Parts: sequence; structure tokens; C-alpha cells
Amino acid sequence: MVTLMQDTSLRDRTEQFSKVLIVEDAVDLCAAVDATLYDAGYDTRIANSGDQALREFYAYQPDLVLLDLGLPGMAGIDVCEAIRRMSNIPVIIFSALGETADKLEAFDRGADDYIVKGAEMQEVVARVGVALRRAHTAASEGGVSDYSDPQVHIDFGRRTAVIRGKQAELTRTEYELLVSLISAGQPMSASQLLRKVWGPEYNSDELVKWHIGRLRKKIEVDPDNPSLVVTRRGFGYMYVSPQA
Ligand code: CA
Repeated sequence: MVTLMQDTSLRDRTEQFSKVLIVEDAVDLCAAVDATLYDAGYDTRIANSGDQALREFYAYQPDLVLLDLGLPGMAGIDVCEAIRRMSNIPVIIFSALGETADKLEAFDRGADDYIVKGAEMQEVVARVGVALRRAHTAASEGGVSDYSDPQVHIDFGRRTAVIRGKQAELTRTEYELLVSLISAGQPMSASQLLRKVWGPEYNSDELVKWHIGRLRKKIEVDPDNPSLVVTRRGFGYMYVSPQA
């Protein structure tokens, strides 16, 4: 569903030696992923259970977590949520579960990306790279003034959104979608949003649709009849500034 081109030139020095925590209880698969990421230049550490994942999260302070869902002890999805409460580092789910509902729940609980097991190792490496680049770009932004309208206040420096007076718990992806649409000031197609938020390697309008749906749940008064992030039939999505 998501296709990726291999383009090693996209990888820059900032990703070198980034720390990736691999959470996986299947020993052989874990070793394979570990070897692949290590060969690709990452510093890696392994956790074989959810509880160990959280301990390593504190001790190792990874730049990214690759997280299995079916784990002994604490479930992967709970690990995802726990990490998201403490940090905004990218969390990529790596799971055998490939149903839409599984993915939606993972995005809802703070995952940035979702890889279904069986994907080529090259794809795993590429998507780890994409997530780290996005995180790095986000971290190097800042110092820009805020955006404000009668319902939405964005603090670009702190990367937070306050919706109708309440801090919104947006994932990195949701935040970037919202900011991209606000900054554009005109409709953006799903593929434009994909390129802007995920990167040129991605080719899945569905991914955009899911995350727009999640974003609406968090910022709209009525997510089924959105008034902020609206769909422009035939064009894509647009942010409409509310009237005072
Ligand atoms: Ca497992």
C-alpha cells in the first residue's frame, strides 16, 4: 500500500548514529531487524517485552522506537501511548496485524507510522530514515511567531496547538498536517500533503485520509461535519479560518 523508492542520497549525516530502540519478542526477527539497521549505520538496542521497552526508553534515550504490538506483558499499543506521553520521538509500529482498525488505533495512540510485517527490510530502513529526517527538520524549526484565529492557536516554537482554549494532544503527524494546511492557505491535495508531511518516498493517499480523520476528531466540534479542516471535492483538504 505504501510504496517507497530507494534513494540513499536522501539520507543525510544527521541520521548517522541515530539511536533506534527495537522492541520485538520474536528473537530471529529481532536479530534480523537489528542487523539490518546496524548495517545501515544506526546505533541499536533491543527490548523483548513491553516492560523492558519502557526501561530501555529511559536508559537508552532512543531517537526512534520500532515497536511490535504483540508483546509479552505490557501490550505494544500501551507502550506506544506511554512513550507518547513522555516524548515526541517517532514511534513506528512493526506488526503482523495489518487491518485498518489496528492501524487506526495505533495512530490514535500516538504512532507516527505503521509497517506490516513481511515488508522488505529495505523498506523498514527507508521508513526509519524518513521518520528521523522529519523529526530532525521539526526540531531545527522554531523561533517563528504564533498562529492564532478564534478557535486555533499554534505555537510554532513549542509545536503545540491549543483548540478552543484547550491544549490538543496532537501526534507529530497530526500537528504537521494542521500546520501545513494552515500555512498553505489554499487547498492541498493528498499527494501534496504526503510529500510535505511524510516525504517523497510515500505514495498512499489513504495514509493522509486516516490522519486527517484523526486530526478532525481532536480539533473539530463535529468531526463528521468538519468546519476547520474541510474536504474540497476533487482538490483535497483545506484549512478554513473560523470567524470570530
Ligand atoms: Ca510479537
